[in-house]
Amino acid sequence: MQTDPLSHLYPRLTAVTSPWMTELFDNHSLLDDLFREYGSPINIHHAGPFAENYESYRCVLEKHRLDHTIFFARKANKCRIFVKEAKRLGLGVDTASYRELKECLDLGCDPDKLVLTAAVKNEILVRLALQHGVLMVLDNEDECRLVNRIAEELGIVSKIGIRISGFLHNGEKLYSRFGFDVDYVAEFITSQLESGNHFGNLRFSGFHFHLNSYSIQERADAIIQTIYLSDMLRKKGISTKFIDLGGGLLMNYLADREDWETFRAELKKAVMGERNPITFGNNGLGYELINGSLHGETDVYPYYNETPKEQFLEAVLINKTENGSTPAGMLRERNIELRMEPGRSLLDQTGMTMARVIHRKKDQRGDWLVGLEMNRSQLMSSSADYLLDPILIPMQKSAVDSIPAAVYFTGGYCLEQDLILKRKITLPHLPYIGDIICFPNTAGYMMHFYETQSHLYDFTTNLVINEDSEEMSIKRDELYKFNKFPLKRGVRH
Ligand SMILES: *Cc1c(COP(=O)(O)O)cnc(C)c1O
Repeated sequence: MQTDPLSHLYPRLTAVTSPWMTELFDNHSLLDDLFREYGSPINIHHAGPFAENYESYRCVLEKHRLDHTIFFARKANKCRIFVKEAKRLGLGVDTASYRELKECLDLGCDPDKLVLTAAVKNEILVRLALQHGVLMVLDNEDECRLVNRIAEELGIVSKIGIRISGFLHNGEKLYSRFGFDVDYVAEFITSQLESGNHFGNLRFSGFHFHLNSYSIQERADAIIQTIYLSDMLRKKGISTKFIDLGGGLLMNYLADREDWETFRAELKKAVMGERNPITFGNNGLGYELINGSLHGETDVYPYYNETPKEQFLEAVLINKTENGSTPAGMLRERNIELRMEPGRSLLDQTGMTMARVIHRKKDQRGDWLVGLEMNRSQLMSSSADYLLDPILIPMQKSAVDSIPAAVYFTGGYCLEQDLILKRKITLPHLPYIGDIICFPNTAGYMMHFYETQSHLYDFTTNLVINEDSEEMSIKRDELYKFNKFPLKRGVRH
C-alpha cells in the first residue's frame, strides 16, 4: 500500500514508559490471549509506580518535618486496585461521591484517612460521612445548613473543613466556582461556626483549596494567604489544624524537551498555513488564525515538565515570600498539618490503554485513517488532545513492510469527530489488521473520566498486573458491587 512520503516530517512526542510496559509490548502471546478473552480495548494497570509516587511525596514532606496526610484523589481512575493499594500503604483517599465513599468504607479504609470533597452533597452522602466520622469539606452555607441539621439529628458535633477560593495572585483575585471567598470566610467562621452559634453542631478544623492552574507561585501564594487567615482566626481563639492544598500537582509525560518545543512550533506554523497540517482538519488545539494572525493559547495539559510531582511540591514549599519565609517554615512554626490530594500524579506510569486495529483506509484528502476497536470517550481528558505518541505493537509474524506511515486513528462512534487523537501520528509502518496500538500512561483521567456507552458499547475492560508472586498474573479489576442505592429519604444503612 502507498504510504505518505512526508511522514518523517510530523513532529514526534515520545512518551516516558516504564519497564513493566515495555515488557508487555514484547509479550505477544500474552497480549493475544488478553484480547481474545476481553475484546478491545483494554486498560492495563500496575500498582508498583503508585507506591513509588506516594513515597516520593512522603519523602519531601518528611524532609521538611511537616505533619502531613496525603489523600489519593479517587476520581482520577475508577479501578478498585488503587483504593486497596492506598489502604495497604497507609495513604488516605479523597472521595467525591456516595459510591466513592461507600466503596472505601466497605473495603475497610480507616475513616480518619478519608476525606469527602464532593461538589454535590446530598442527604444520603452526608449521613454516610457523619455516621462514619469522615471529615467533610464544605463549600457553601447551604451545605453547612444540611450537615448541621443532620448532625444535630444524629446527636453529633462534627469537625469540618472549609473550602476557600479567591486568592490574590499578581494583584488579581483567582476565580473559582468552588468554596467560600477567602476575604469573607473568617467572619463567617467566627460568627457562625462555633458552639452556641448558628451552626452549633459543626466545628471548624481546617482549610481546603484546589487550584485549577499548574503554577508553583499560585500554589505558594494560596498557602501563605491561608496561613495568614489562620493567624487571624487564632487571635479569636479558633485554631486551624490543617491546610489542604488539593491536587493538581504537575506530572511529566514526555521523554524529551525538544519534542515538546518542536511540536508547539510546528503546530503554530500549520495553523498559520506555513506547513502541511499536523492535526486533523488543521485543528489548532486552541490556536486560531484570525485575519492572518495567530490568536489564543493551546488548550492542552502541559505534557512536558521539568518540575513534576515531588519536585513541584518541593518548589511550592520552599518558595520564599517577600520577607524571606517559606510555606514549609510557616506551617512548621504553627504546627499546622499539611494535607494534599494528588490524583493524576499518583497514577503516573500506572496504566495504559490498548486497542486492536480493525481497518485501514485512505480518505478523500489522501490521509490514512486507521480504524481502532474503541471510541474517543475511552481516551479523553479535559485536554484538547492526548499528546503522546502511541506505540505500534505488530502482531503479524510475517509482516515486513518498513516504510513509515503517517496516520490518523478513528473510533467506533458514528460521529465525524470520532477521532481517537487529533494529531497525525508517524508509525514505523502502516499497521495491519489485528495489530495493537498502545496509548501509554493513561491511568490519570484519560481512560475513565469521560468514558460513555453510546451505541451500547461496553466500557473498556480494566485489568491489573500482579507481580507479587513468582508468576505474573493479570486479573480483571472487578467493579465494585453495591447494594441497591438507598432511595427513601433519611433511610439509614
Ligand atoms: C480533582 C481534584 C483533585 C485531584 O487533582 P489532580 O489534578 O488529579 O491531582 C484533588 N482535590 C480536589 C478537590 C479535586 O477536585
